[in-house]
Amino acid sequence: MNTPEPAKNHTNTEEIIKKLPKLEQHIHIVGSTKPETLLGIIEDNGVEMPFKNLDDVKKFFQYGDFPHFLNVYSTVNDCITEPKYYERITYEMLESEAACNVKHVEAIFSANDHVRRGLDYDEMLDAINKGIRRAKRKWGITCTIRIDLVRNYGPEVAAKELGWIKKKGDNIVAVDLGGSENGFPPEPYEKVYKKASDLGLRLVAHAGEDAGPESIWGAIKTLNVERIGHGVTAIKDPTLLKEIKSRGITIEACPTSNLRIGAVKSMKEHPIRGFIKQGIRVSVNSDDPPMFNTDINNEYIQLHRELGFTVDELMGISLDSVETSFLPEKRKNELRETFLREHRELKRG
Ligand SMILES: [Zn+2]
Repeated sequence: MNTPEPAKNHTNTEEIIKKLPKLEQHIHIVGSTKPETLLGIIEDNGVEMPFKNLDDVKKFFQYGDFPHFLNVYSTVNDCITEPKYYERITYEMLESEAACNVKHVEAIFSANDHVRRGLDYDEMLDAINKGIRRAKRKWGITCTIRIDLVRNYGPEVAAKELGWIKKKGDNIVAVDLGGSENGFPPEPYEKVYKKASDLGLRLVAHAGEDAGPESIWGAIKTLNVERIGHGVTAIKDPTLLKEIKSRGITIEACPTSNLRIGAVKSMKEHPIRGFIKQGIRVSVNSDDPPMFNTDINNEYIQLHRELGFTVDELMGISLDSVETSFLPEKRKNELRETFLREHRELKRG
């Protein structure tokens, strides 16, 4: 029997990585809007946009720099003129996730981005859950929601949002604090997070993406988070790494997003290996996939190509993503068994 050539080996490994079972812990619903989806929405609502066809939208989605990304993101927000579009965006996001063999998604919903534009919270939440139910029927994929309180709106708005969740919290399992880290530290959200915890919500915050370790310290000490979104700059502070480890906090890594936004200079410099070496659990996620020209398969493949992660190591990460998800124990057990079975089958070839 001939020895397979290295190049072919490489491709085979990537094919296996694509088929690995996965769980997504960090994806923004709006940020997952595909060019095709956006075009469909514009055609439906007739919003004036400078796109004539799909190629125009695809060109617009090409990542340029951070201000351009923000422009794409807010343009999509502007196009969501009715709650019903959330059903389509969510359904098509889950379609892409299912195609990457993702079994469960924890999707981020920045409700106030739309409430301030005049949309109704209850109707949007219903539309998202409708998209989730349809996707589950079609592909068996499940999805829960976490509300991004968006730090730029201030703690009073965040407290108001908790009120909405308390009244209608269908399928909402957690709160998050996205938005601009610089100028909006986590400390003023202490009371809101305490209240969220009292409501039974799980706690996450974006931190250490465009601000230093102090932002992560704040999220840990004042907000008591269980998971950190991004957490890149933690690597600069050995004491912080120890604290993250001892508290059992998970880092939701989003490698391509970090690279595009400039939080890391190259994929080879991404600190994910450093976190794992410290004994910190990580998950691998796609953040805003079409806007960063990625998907969760590509995230796993990048770790293999650029940082030498083996299939077994990646399988370990995907299993950890199940353990550190906000799913109930019963569903975790089911997923763990499914993941291990599929992994064994993939190894057998
Ligand atoms: Zn994010």
